[in-house]
Formats: sequence, C-alpha cells, structure tokens
Amino acid sequence: MECRASCGACCIAPSISSAIPGMPDGKPAGVRCVQLAEDFRCMIFNDPRRPLVCGGLKARTEMCGAEKGLAGREFALAYLDRLELATRPD
Ligand code: SF4
Ligand code: SF4
Repeated sequence: MECRASCGACCIAPSISSAIPGMPDGKPAGVRCVQLAEDFRCMIFNDPRRPLVCGGLKARTEMCGAEKGLAGREFALAYLDRLELATRPD
C-alpha cells in the first residue's frame, strides 16, 4: 500500500535514536517530529539529513491499517505504540 496522506503515525509514535535536524538527540516515542509539517508531510523528505530509519519504514496494511481514513491512523498509532513497547531496551 501507499503511505496514507495526513497520517504521520510513523513520525510520532516510534522513538528515533538518530539525530534529526532540530532534534539533535533524536526523537522520544510519542513525540511529534519537528520535521513533520502541519499537513503531515516530512519537511526533509529528500534531505540527506533525514534519518535512514525513516526511509526504512514501508507502508503495509499490517502496520498502517485501513488505506484511508482516521481509523487507519488510529490503528497505526496503536500498532506502533505496541511495537515501541515490545522493542524498548530495559
Ligand atoms: S503508519 Fe503507514 S500510512 Fe501512516 S505514516 Fe506510517 S507508513 Fe504512512
Ligand atoms: S524526519 Fe521526516 S520522516 Fe523522519 S520522523 Fe521526522 S517527519 Fe517523519
């Protein structure tokens, strides 16, 4: 599937350990990336400073839920929250 417009779940729910312009220590889980625009587009999509991990997250139904609509976004946020908890180093 294609990454859904106006979602941004991948840019909010997971933690990112790499530096992001404006977030030099990376991004904690559940915090909106400062590079995520109001319209949920990445403002540094084609910039080499965009973390590699961002490009590694590919849209797929298992993670994203429904292709369109708010239900899919809520599904994705919950899925990514669970993934974050399951992979958190303790
Ligand atoms: S959860 Fe899926 S649709 Fe939403 S931003 Fe990530 S890849 Fe795109
Ligand atoms: S850098 Fe772009 S793709 Fe990566 S989390 Fe931030 S807004 Fe999303």
